[in-house]
Amino acid sequence: MTRHRVMAPPLMAAAAAAALVAGLMAAPPDPQAGPKAGKAALPPAVTDTRAKARPAHDGDTDDDDAAIDALKKRHLKVPVQGVTRDDLRDTFRQRRGSDRQHEAIDILAARDTPVLAVEDGTIAKLFLSKPGGITIYQYDPSETYVYYYAHLARYADGLIERGRVERGQVIGYVGTSGNAPPNTPHLHFAIFKLTSQKHWWQGTPIDPYPVLK
Ligand SMILES: [Zn+2]
Repeated sequence: MTRHRVMAPPLMAAAAAAALVAGLMAAPPDPQAGPKAGKAALPPAVTDTRAKARPAHDGDTDDDDAAIDALKKRHLKVPVQGVTRDDLRDTFRQRRGSDRQHEAIDILAARDTPVLAVEDGTIAKLFLSKPGGITIYQYDPSETYVYYYAHLARYADGLIERGRVERGQVIGYVGTSGNAPPNTPHLHFAIFKLTSQKHWWQGTPIDPYPVLK
């Protein structure tokens, strides 16, 4: 696995460790690398909650396919209440700028619709980011993957870092925090396969669409 990406600005000490391991420089805090929000009326053309510019998705497709197959078997919950699998659209490879892809799916829903944990697991980080807004990083039970939920209106009451969550539990509410268009509330949902260090901010993006479909 060589496509480690820095997913969000880590703390400085952790960043140094990550840079050593991955051979990458840590992302500066909230670089405005993404396209400006507000021009397009609808996602998926509008948001980029990721923090660092990087090459487009390339190589290692066998690894990615294996991860997709493994995750499909878990029958993950669709992470927005009332949204069915048929409602989902695949926008993982949509271009965001000249050299990046979306690497997530956007799920449209009314503001304040409950956001549900896709699987049992542990809250890795409750992270506020300029592009992603109010976000949640959740480890899966084996800490092989991290699930990322962004543009929330707010967290569910009582949600804490390192706290356990169950599949289907309400963990937050759909909103437009970060760079989401104010008139288009949606959940930006991503899956990352972690490195052996299991840093919540570092991993390989896995297409959530075939996993959830
Ligand atoms: Zn998105």
